[in-house]
Parts: sequence; C-alpha cells; structure tokens
Amino acid sequence: MNVMTAVRAASDTKTVEHFDVLIVGAGISGIGSAYQLTKQLPDRSFVILESQDGFGGTWLTHRYPGIRSDSDLHTFGYSFKPWVGPPIATAEEIKSYMGEVITENDLARHIRYKHRIERASWSSDTNLWTVEAVRTDSKEPVTFTANFLWMCQGYYRHSEGYTPDWKNVDKFKGRIVHPQLWPDDIDLKDKRVVVIGSGATAATLIPAIAGECAHVTMLQRSPTYFRIGRNAIELAETLRQLRVKEEWVHEIVRRKILFEQDAFTKRCLAEPEQVKAELIGQITAILGPDYDVATHFTPTYRPWRQRIAFIPDADLFHGIKSGKASVVTDEIDRFTENGILLKSGKELTADIIVTATGFNLCMLGDIAFAIDGKPLNFGDTVTYRGMMFTGVPNMAWVFGYFRASWTLRTDLVADFVCRLLTHMTAKGVTRVVPKLRPEDHNMPRLPWIDPDNFNPGYMMRSMHRMPKRGDKPEWQHSQDYWAEKDEFPKIDLDDPAFVYG
Ligand SMILES: Cc1cc2nc3c(=O)[nH]c(=O)nc-3n(C[C@H](O)[C@H](O)[C@H](O)COP(=O)(O)OP(=O)(O)OC[C@H]3O[C@@H](n4cnc5c(N)ncnc54)[C@H](O)[C@@H]3O)c2cc1C
Repeated sequence: MNVMTAVRAASDTKTVEHFDVLIVGAGISGIGSAYQLTKQLPDRSFVILESQDGFGGTWLTHRYPGIRSDSDLHTFGYSFKPWVGPPIATAEEIKSYMGEVITENDLARHIRYKHRIERASWSSDTNLWTVEAVRTDSKEPVTFTANFLWMCQGYYRHSEGYTPDWKNVDKFKGRIVHPQLWPDDIDLKDKRVVVIGSGATAATLIPAIAGECAHVTMLQRSPTYFRIGRNAIELAETLRQLRVKEEWVHEIVRRKILFEQDAFTKRCLAEPEQVKAELIGQITAILGPDYDVATHFTPTYRPWRQRIAFIPDADLFHGIKSGKASVVTDEIDRFTENGILLKSGKELTADIIVTATGFNLCMLGDIAFAIDGKPLNFGDTVTYRGMMFTGVPNMAWVFGYFRASWTLRTDLVADFVCRLLTHMTAKGVTRVVPKLRPEDHNMPRLPWIDPDNFNPGYMMRSMHRMPKRGDKPEWQHSQDYWAEKDEFPKIDLDDPAFVYG
C-alpha cells in the first residue's frame, strides 16, 4: 500500500504506475489537499497530475495585467501557512506562497507536470481507477492506477475562455483578446480599448491598463456590485506592531474576516436594500453626485446573488473619475470594422477589444469517465454534499465556495477524505460509493445550485451537465462555509448513504 509500484500491464508492455491516491491538478486545491494528505496519512502513496508546466492553476493560467485575488489571502491562503502580505494579492504573490508550501513540505517530488488526464475508468473487479494521461510535450501516453481519485481540477476549462457568439466579429479590423489567453506581444500604448464585461476580471484589468491606453471603456450589459476598501487590515497591522507572531496574526485575522463575512451574508438576506444602498453609496462618494450611478452601478438583483468583487483602494473608480476610463451600459448589436455597434445605435470605436466575458464551466477536467465499461454522465448523479457522487466509487471533488474563499473548502474536504480513507482501512474495505437511502428516493432532483440563490452566467450555461442536488443537507453543496465547518467533522461514515465493499 505504501510503496509506489511499477507493474507491467498484462496486455502490453507499457508501464503502469500505482498510487493509493491520485490528485488531479496542482492549483491551490491540489497543493492544499496534498499537504493535508501528507500530514494526516503520511503512509499513503500519492501523485499529483497537472496538465500545465507549473503549479498555480488559476494563478498560472491568468496573466492579464492587474491579475489579483478578490478574496483576502488570510482566508484564500491555507489555514496552516500564515499570509504575511496585504490581503489582496497578485497572481505572482499567490504562486510564490504556493511555491513555499511545496518546498517546505517536500511536495515537488509528487507532482508530474505536463500530464493531461484524458480518461479514467473504474473497475469493480479490482476496485481501482485506471487513469490515462498524455504527456503534453512528447504526446506519450501514460497510465496510472489508483485506489482513490481526488479531483482538484477546478471548475472551468483552462485552455479557453467563454466568448459569446456576437454578429460580425470577423469584420472588426483591430485585435480581439480574451483575458484568459492574454498575449505577450500586445501593445496597449495610446490604443482605444473596449473591455466587454463587468465582473472581477474587467474591474482589475481596467485600472491596470488605464494609464497606458489612450482610453479604456468598460462595456457592460448590466451593472455588478462592487465593494470598496483599503488593501490592508487594520487589526493585522496593529498585531504586527505589537510583535504578535505571524501564526497568531493569521489565525486571528482569519477569524475576524470570517466573522464579518458571515454577518455581511446574513445582512444581505435580512436587509438587502440597506446593503445595496451602502455598496452603491461607496461608489457615489468617489464619482460624485453628477455621475450616473443609477445606470452604471446599480444592479437589479439583490446583493450576494453573484460574487461581489472587492476593489482595493477604489482603483477602478479613480480611473473613471480621472477620465482615463469610462463605462457604457448597453447591449451589443454587432461588431463593425471599427468597433462595436450598440443596440442604442451608438458605435464604440476601438483598436483592441478585450472579451472579459467569463469561463466555460468544465465538468471534472474534461476527463472521459467510465464505470465498469459504461460511460459516466455526471448529470445523472446526485452529489453527496458537493464532494462525492451517487454511483461513483472512491472519488472526491474539491468544489470550493463562491461567496467565501474557495480554499476554505479545500481543508474541509481534505479532513473528510482523510477520515474516510482511515475509516475504510479500519473496516478492511477498498470501495466506498455514495447511494441514495430508501428515504431519499422521492427527493426532488434539483440543479447543482439554486439559480435564485447564486446565478453567474458560466453556471447557468452548463448546469445541465452538473450533478444534481437533493433537498436535504447530505445531497447538496450548500455554499455555506459556516454550516459546513461544523457539519463535516460530524459526518457519520457509517450512514447508509455510504456503501462499502
Ligand atoms: C481570475 C480569477 C480570480 C479568482 N479570484 C478568486 C478569489 O479571489 N477568491 C476565490 O475564492 N476564488 C477566486 N477565483 C476562483 C478560483 O478559480 C478558485 O478560487 C481557485 O483558484 C481554484 O483552485 P483549484 O485548485 O480548485 O482549481 P484551478 O485553479 O482551476 O486549478 C486546477 C488545475 O487542474 C488542472 N487540470 C484540470 N483538468 C486537468 C486534467 N484533465 N488533467 C490534468 N490537469 C488538469 C489545471 O491545469 C489547473 O492547473 C478566481 C478565479 C479566477 C479565474
């Protein structure tokens, strides 16, 4: 069990490596899960397969100017490693933090980069997954077997972003760029740039390029909520002045942030109009009473139905106030030679158009899964607490939080997986499959996420491919860290929802 074994497959001469656990992806979830596995179950062999040529996931893929977190790094960072910088961090800072985690915990030897997994097949005869990957450099196929698959591949396709199907895109004479594939050779100097989109990506990119461009326009169909604040946490500064140890600063500040986020989420539900007025009031305070905040920064939905982007030091709004950036709220009719014709009849001229229009949701890394020879459609499964799936043996997925830091769930899922693996060893079994209990059979099968609760475009476009949700806590991803942090450690592993073999 502990030793990595290389065996010869009976049918051909290729080498098949076996590991107790195979982790998919070396993003913040994969590295965090590997850390927890080494600490909680140091005797298990494991490998991390990553299709890119380095660690970081989201923070490696996205290279557009200004790329930064919109969560604070005290909660987006790991519980076990203090974050010592300003709360909002650049991609470089996040990668360097992850690099330290890898070095300090000797994780590098477990990671195989440039290994894209294409197929994973479960056999109930052997109780093993067979994972087929391709080396992205040499195109060589490589095969692994594993007892347990720990899916840390994120939720969107890294190789391409989402671009809507606009009319006459090919007529535009300038350059079109998606922030997910930001080119190295782009020259923004003195160019008229239109950024389509109003989410966190547009909001970070625009202030980062505004100084260089002739002008940058944010073109949005509808407004989004933003929160403005200083990129600093006063309590952290005070504790540091008092020379409190960084481990303590991290933990205390984490607790403060989580406490405040919980209170904020509750307020969004209890008094949405008041919260809405406060968020919009912050913007009016910077842009002044003559700015049309009602058109450009007043969403029609209630706060927290989509992620609220944090704007450190109000840089986006200072860019608008200075005249270097502006906002247009309208719909695209079609592209033209010189830019974009809007439904209002106005034409926006541009040299460069940036499509900050989001992601393509990607179910479990675009891997073709099969169970005992039958192709697996995750849309036919029901999720066990947003981390396992009915009928799918020995697999957990780290799908984090949208309204709290994603990574908070990495730790919770890791504790659960390690407890489950320990339980299986104690029971002397090698297979666990979530299964609806008799009392669950009449339960409604609902979409993965309640669209009335949270409804970003990438989710709505692909919900039909996601596993289903039930109406009981066991059968849904509640997106509620504050409930799950208490519920997960108490999960009864002998509940009939787990079938062992
Ligand atoms: C620009 C941007 C900013 C964000 N900011 C925040 C934030 O501030 N706070 C927050 O909570 N969330 C944020 N998010 C959401 C973010 O994606 C997650 O928080 C987090 O980084 C996801 O980490 P992950 O490791 O689960 O997945 P990812 O970062 O997506 O990493 C998954 C890795 O798996 C690899 N992989 C996928 N499929 C395969 C395969 N078939 N074979 C091999 N390898 C594979 C990928 O190459 C990738 O490296 C942001 C997202 C984006 C795009």
